[in-house]
Amino acid sequence: MAAIAMENKRKWIYAKKPKGIWFQRRQWVGYTLLLIFFVLPFIKIGEHPMLMLNVVERKFSIFGTLFYPQDLYIFVFGMMIMLVAIVLITAMAGRVWCGWACPQTIFMELVFRRIEYWIEGDWQQQRKLNAGPDTDARAWKKLAKHSIFLLLSFIIANLFLAYIIGVDALWQIIREPVEQHLIGFLSLIVFTLVFYGVFAHLREIVCTTICPYGRLQSVLLDESTVTVAYDHRRGEPRGKQQRHVDAHHLKGDCVDCKLCVHVCPTGIDIRDGIQLECVNCTACVDACDAVMLKLQKPTGLVGFYSAATLEGDAAVKSKAVSVRTLAYAGVLIALSIGFAFLLANRSIIDARLLRATGSSYQLRADGTVSNLYTLELTNKSGKDIPFMVSSEDSTVLVQRVNVIDSLKRDGTAMLSFFIIRPKHSIQQYKSEVIVAIMSNNKKIKSLKTTFIAPVAM
Ligand code: SF4
Ligand code: SF4
Repeated sequence: MAAIAMENKRKWIYAKKPKGIWFQRRQWVGYTLLLIFFVLPFIKIGEHPMLMLNVVERKFSIFGTLFYPQDLYIFVFGMMIMLVAIVLITAMAGRVWCGWACPQTIFMELVFRRIEYWIEGDWQQQRKLNAGPDTDARAWKKLAKHSIFLLLSFIIANLFLAYIIGVDALWQIIREPVEQHLIGFLSLIVFTLVFYGVFAHLREIVCTTICPYGRLQSVLLDESTVTVAYDHRRGEPRGKQQRHVDAHHLKGDCVDCKLCVHVCPTGIDIRDGIQLECVNCTACVDACDAVMLKLQKPTGLVGFYSAATLEGDAAVKSKAVSVRTLAYAGVLIALSIGFAFLLANRSIIDARLLRATGSSYQLRADGTVSNLYTLELTNKSGKDIPFMVSSEDSTVLVQRVNVIDSLKRDGTAMLSFFIIRPKHSIQQYKSEVIVAIMSNNKKIKSLKTTFIAPVAM
């Protein structure tokens, strides 16, 4: 592990400030994602946040649509789609998610490390500062850096909490006395300390050791995966170029300047081959291209290559995508179709219909038979809804015992009703009846149940 030196001691990574065209692109992508991340909890569609993942109350709002624990299967489907999409992207382009879209990398490289460069200077100045004497100037720099890190961590913690409980609930925690929101307040402190620990101390260890996705890479990558890689065919033997050497002693294009190593935020040497710690950030591509341009050589000594290209495996190289990648894409399409189907057929209420426990049928004086039922309804629509229970069969009558005709937003209701059928229409002891739940003259749910009655002679 690059960041953990032998005898298990942390080796602090001093990454050189990156610059170049790939870094500019990464900034565009990263700052755009940051902007989205900061505004998303504040956007509402209808009455609900565009994105809220309330794991505490198991209530999720996605694009303004509320999902409840009863919708867990839809949520699991959505998670599976995300997972397979990341697997597919990884099979095609390595850990591109890590280097370009993961919030950990974006905050670390584009926010916290930029502040560090601004206060403590580039990598060599930082190294000198940390190795140097304990002066007032050093203490002030450290104090300024860690104060800003803590403040930023606090802001991120607030935002993180807004994704969980929504901005309205967060606003209440901020405005009202602490003792009324002790858990929310403690959560803010814990999140702040966790983020501060991650960005000020753990840093690349999250990507190289803690995150399980990085460890999964070895099974996800194959010969055709295009990742950031060193073209050893062109670069070796490495070393300083010397004038007046005969053809047998000509060096490769790598001048062994080690700039690609100095810029690497995970502290690896890309020339050692594809490694799990590489997050595809492309900082080494920029660094090496700048060297090649100075030497008036073609760029791309460190670039985007598949293992098949570098090993000259024509059979694999000729295939644009591997069978494995096609299989992932197939699974992703199938899951997406299933997900769309589930969403389209998702009911705005959840219902549980049961025949009243211990009850049988009742023969009535008017020549009909009745069965008693209980119905439990949960409103998932996010607003109050009027409703009524009926049957599509004109011979079946639904007679309510308790009159509840409106379901409160996020509320549940328990009602009882009789299903009444003419005795002469009954052909068998157990038959099926369908009950419809209507709202504003629209059927919102159909429920099947059994009806028992003596068979007409
Ligand atoms: S090897 Fe290059 S692409 Fe990989 S993490 Fe290091 S600098 Fe980024
Ligand atoms: S930056 Fe390029 S030339 Fe310099 S050591 Fe790395 S691969 Fe070699």
